[in-house]
Amino acid sequence: MSDIATDKRIELLGLTADELREFMTAMGEKPYRARQLHDSIYRRRVTSFDSMTDLPKTLRRLLDERAVVTHTRVESVFISSDGTRRFLLKLGDGREVEAVFMPEERRDTVCISSQVGCPLACDFCMTGVMGLRRNMTAGEIVSQVIIVLNEVYGQGIEPPHGTNIVMMGMGEPLLNYDSVIKSVRLFADPDGLRIAPRRVTLSTAGIVPRIYDLAREEVRPRLAISLTAANDELRNRLFPINLKYSLKQLIEACRSYPLGERERLTFEYVMLDGINDSDRDARELVRLLSGIRAKVNLIPHNPAPELPYRSSSMERILAFQKILTGAGLPSFIRRPRGQDISAACGQLAARHQASA
Ligand code: SF4
Repeated sequence: MSDIATDKRIELLGLTADELREFMTAMGEKPYRARQLHDSIYRRRVTSFDSMTDLPKTLRRLLDERAVVTHTRVESVFISSDGTRRFLLKLGDGREVEAVFMPEERRDTVCISSQVGCPLACDFCMTGVMGLRRNMTAGEIVSQVIIVLNEVYGQGIEPPHGTNIVMMGMGEPLLNYDSVIKSVRLFADPDGLRIAPRRVTLSTAGIVPRIYDLAREEVRPRLAISLTAANDELRNRLFPINLKYSLKQLIEACRSYPLGERERLTFEYVMLDGINDSDRDARELVRLLSGIRAKVNLIPHNPAPELPYRSSSMERILAFQKILTGAGLPSFIRRPRGQDISAACGQLAARHQASA
């Protein structure tokens, strides 16, 4: 196998069934060979042609000369005391991204990245400190789930529980719209990974025009808004993107977002000590979200030496939650996962050590 950074072979992961058929037809192969390839890549999660033993040896060799299933490779894996695993992954051009596997009793969650770095520079997030290197392709986005499931359960083995996907890793998914939507369709493919769109949550810092676009998509993931502030003054400080799309515009887009019967919009609220965690802040949040079918995830801030914030105390978070619940706004306190391996929210920065 040639060096990953100079390997110019076409990456098949990320191609739809139709695109795979075109690729195989161009190689002079029959459509049923494309179906076999599709089944191997997406349903059985096979990542080397050598293991596709239902294909003739000559075809496997030809495929190996012209293509790879994915260029993504595991660089390192960090395992937390709570079972969370952080995967540092190397893409075809040598850039690195992170994906996090979180085992749950009923269902596993894989948190994936959508961009290498992130341009939004939110003030409480390590990924923002990196800046944007580039967008990820749909194949690279999907490769994270395939590689993580293979590492955890073994190639081709069905995860014993279902899989939830959260696009809350590195990057702002709505700034890589086309690839993200294509990856959601690939996840949902009934002949492939079969991860329904309602099992996929996309988290945005508030790219308002793309929220309207997303509302019109036929295959649509669940939407979460990374809110963390209930007024423009504070949000401008924490989220520079708020200077472009104000809270008013963001909330208007949320109000018009179509929801399924039992669906709620999720608002993520990172609890920052002395910054956004007073009773007054809680009441302001209730007012802001009134009339929206919403739920709020309260996330204790995950500290990093480079960031100037501390998490609110659990006592404060509980008092904050009580005000939301009292006003009929469902809210949940998110247990921090993988803090000891820098895998928690806002900590992803392609680190090579377990923690900073
Ligand atoms: S919080 Fe999300 S959108 Fe903001 S800088 Fe971090 S990765 Fe980007």
